[in-house]
Amino acid sequence: MDERQRFWSETARGLTPYVPGEQPKTGRYVKLNTNENPYPPSPRVLEAIAREVSAALRLYPDPDALLFKSAVSEAHGVPVSSVFAGNGSDEVLAHAFCALLKHDRPLLFPDVTYSFYPVYCGLYGIDYRTVPLTERFEIRVEDYAVPNGGVIFPNPNAPTGCLLSLDKIEWLARQNADSVLVVDEAYVDFGGKSAIPLTRRHSNLLVVQTLSKSRSLAGLRLGFAVGHPDLVEALERVRNSFNSYPLDRLAIAGGAAAMADRRYFEETRDRIVRSRERLFRELVSLGFSVLPSAANFLFATHPERPARSLLGALRERGFLVRHFDRPRISGYLRITVGTEEECEGLVATLREILAPQKQEDPPHGR
Ligand SMILES: *Cc1c(COP(=O)(O)O)cnc(C)c1O
Repeated sequence: MDERQRFWSETARGLTPYVPGEQPKTGRYVKLNTNENPYPPSPRVLEAIAREVSAALRLYPDPDALLFKSAVSEAHGVPVSSVFAGNGSDEVLAHAFCALLKHDRPLLFPDVTYSFYPVYCGLYGIDYRTVPLTERFEIRVEDYAVPNGGVIFPNPNAPTGCLLSLDKIEWLARQNADSVLVVDEAYVDFGGKSAIPLTRRHSNLLVVQTLSKSRSLAGLRLGFAVGHPDLVEALERVRNSFNSYPLDRLAIAGGAAAMADRRYFEETRDRIVRSRERLFRELVSLGFSVLPSAANFLFATHPERPARSLLGALRERGFLVRHFDRPRISGYLRITVGTEEECEGLVATLREILAPQKQEDPPHGR
């Protein structure tokens, strides 16, 4: 055994942790690598947090985060008893893996998807099987209609951005009546329809969302799930066996304000969608092949330049994007949609990187 590991539990030794995208310590990069929102949170969020910064911080927060859950309930037209809140949707997902997706039969998820899923399976000892996406990186729901211990995928999927229709999700929820279907809607606000309304009809459907992307609050750590109260109860049991106060006072106040400010949310979202469509066209004109995206990122490959070399060339010029060295997708870059100026800067830089090397000037005279 490695000497440094002598005090480690077998659990700690057996883990293969998730590796998040780089968070540089200096501001010298344009960050298009972790799908953060390029716009600041709503001013109302900052006001609500400022009001909450007081002597009351000596007191524990509301363990039920009722103010935040009520705002989610209001925004989505669902009862508070159908809402579960957590410290980022990663935590909500972790609890879902433990509370709802660990069974004798294997959990199913796509071969190309959010790379945290196999990590949770490792942590909780969940048996899983990956289901290949089609050639065009689409989820074929028929492939999931087999005996399983649960099904999970993001919609739109990550890191591809491909969207699955609600009809297909409902079909699968119906086919899959004996296990839970978790739909991770981290990016749904940028181009999809939420499956939340379907949770009324399907007691095996859990929909997970985050405030990190479309509400510009990655730094505050807020996520939630909507589903039948019986599913929510299982999540609450796990939460209360782990950390009863996952949302602090600032997060509860800020999260509630973010959910309530629909106008600001729609404005910033629409700007990102417009920038995405424009960036899509620009990348295509530079020779990239780009998957259709319903998210706040594009997944693109260049027929002549390996993704890894583009990644390095962009980095040297101050742009961070994400590359996954994994089967099927190692030729792709995942590029977060930034502000209009950031996208223009990226396109100009790529044009420079991709320009054919200038011929040496021919020698003059003799
Ligand atoms: C970003 C992301 C999440 C997690 O977001 P949190 O910041 O933990 O709320 C979950 N699922 C997918 C697919 C994501 O891309």
